[in-house]
Amino acid sequence: MRRALLVSQKFFKGKEATNFLNTQLYHELFDIEKAVDEGFAQFIEDHIKKLDRFTAYHKANCTGEGCELCQTTLIT
Ligand SMILES: [Zn+2]
Repeated sequence: MRRALLVSQKFFKGKEATNFLNTQLYHELFDIEKAVDEGFAQFIEDHIKKLDRFTAYHKANCTGEGCELCQTTLIT
């Protein structure tokens, strides 16, 4: 997905970029069993809630340089 974002920034603009990213997102979601079982909208909503909770937790607990939470893939 990160690669798709870079490609879209380089080659597409506006609605074309959105369409390209949506297509890439659905391709990736089909490979995630939990996303297929729950439905994509529910899976994305749950993921966003987890990210919000993680962000709030990290904000309160960031130790600055060398912080393990800063290294996690959830926020990169
Ligand atoms: Zn941190």
